[in-house]
Amino acid sequence: MSADTWFYTIDDRLYINLTDRCSLDCVFCPKTKGDYNLHQYNLSLDRLPKLAELLSAMPSLSGISEVVFCGFGEPTLRLNILLQLAQHIKQQSDIFIRLNTDGLGSLVNKRNIVPELSQCIDAVSVSMNAQNETVYAQHCRPAIEGSYIAMLDFLTQAKQSVLQVTATAINGLEGVDVNACRILAKQLGIKFRARELDVVG
Ligand code: SF4
Repeated sequence: MSADTWFYTIDDRLYINLTDRCSLDCVFCPKTKGDYNLHQYNLSLDRLPKLAELLSAMPSLSGISEVVFCGFGEPTLRLNILLQLAQHIKQQSDIFIRLNTDGLGSLVNKRNIVPELSQCIDAVSVSMNAQNETVYAQHCRPAIEGSYIAMLDFLTQAKQSVLQVTATAINGLEGVDVNACRILAKQLGIKFRARELDVVG
């Protein structure tokens, strides 16, 4: 049994930490400065957990209102495990499942992953992070060219599915116009939520 934190709780939500790897290198992220701590949890992983390990270590869902795939990493980088774990949870319970994502899962996995997510995930919270590609590049430093457009395309695809979709951006970052992000989300027909730096929800 690993000492890594694969599952953690905040209030009555159960979070699943599948990976500490990202397709972005966000300047504002504590991880970028080497800090993997969130509340009382350290979310760095010595190794990536296997599906069987996650299934056997899964805590009880009793008293849990929502399951959230979220850590200091991008869950869709481990898409197969994400989907299988979410399907397993749905087979046991009708608990609400949310994916917090950078919205680059289709780009990275080289196919539209929204239909697969729609079968076992209820909601996606997508880090829009900026009102245009230039500001996005400044703060998120994507590894793959075309990431901003791919994120917007993911939002559009998700909006057309059964998924509940919310785009987010963080208040107070230089050059980030949260109101312009809100307007962009509205144009895409999706909800928007302004976040505060270092607050996970
Ligand atoms: S995508 Fe999230 S976890 Fe990854 S570097 Fe950016 S803020 Fe940090």
